[in-house]
Amino acid sequence: MHLKTLTLRGFKSFASATTLHFEPGVTCVVGPNGSGKSNVVDALAWVMGEQGAKSLRGGKMEDVIFAGTTGRPPLGRAEVALTIDNADGALPIEYSEVTISRTLFRNGGSEYAINGQGCRLLDIQDLLSDSGLGREMHVIVGQGQLDAVLRATPEERRGFIEEAAGVLKHRKRKEKALRKLDAMQANLTRLGDLTGEIR
Ligand code: ATP
Repeated sequence: MHLKTLTLRGFKSFASATTLHFEPGVTCVVGPNGSGKSNVVDALAWVMGEQGAKSLRGGKMEDVIFAGTTGRPPLGRAEVALTIDNADGALPIEYSEVTISRTLFRNGGSEYAINGQGCRLLDIQDLLSDSGLGREMHVIVGQGQLDAVLRATPEERRGFIEEAAGVLKHRKRKEKALRKLDAMQANLTRLGDLTGEIR
């Protein structure tokens, strides 16, 4: 599995559609300060489901949409598409090439798609999580993040290892299931009270 192309359109400083082609192996992005190198990495994190505006170096999610320059008006939407070579079947989907895409509209609406078919964010997260890609998977190590790892408490370090080992996904599912069970228990208690009152 390797990343093949990344297309940005209206994402941060990339107002016009821009496609980056990657080959297997190491890719370096070079350019002057402020030319948009980190924006490319932000686009990768974003299309893989990042939900935190701060992780994308913004104040709110809308900040990923091209805000305009002196010669160019702001745009109404940001779009990023990532094509992954899946010839080795690392992603659990029957396509040798998978394109995931994400669009955000200035009115707040957003869309996700896998190979052009509209889907939920959860579908993208599920597709990527077993491959070690995706949000919170530490495949993207940002500036200053190494310091954070070195300064982490033992609990936080355990969290990193659990993520790398793929335990996190199951822990989150367990927490969700326990929350549902709690809510169900509260409903049952309320039902018991009501039944008692009616008798
Ligand atoms: P450095 O080498 O200093 O880390 P860089 O190449 O990584 O720089 P980025 O941080 O990726 O640069 O890009 C910063 C540029 O992106 C700034 O000029 C900023 O104005 C522009 N930018 C960020 N968000 C938007 C947006 N929503 N609309 C337009 N331009 C934006």
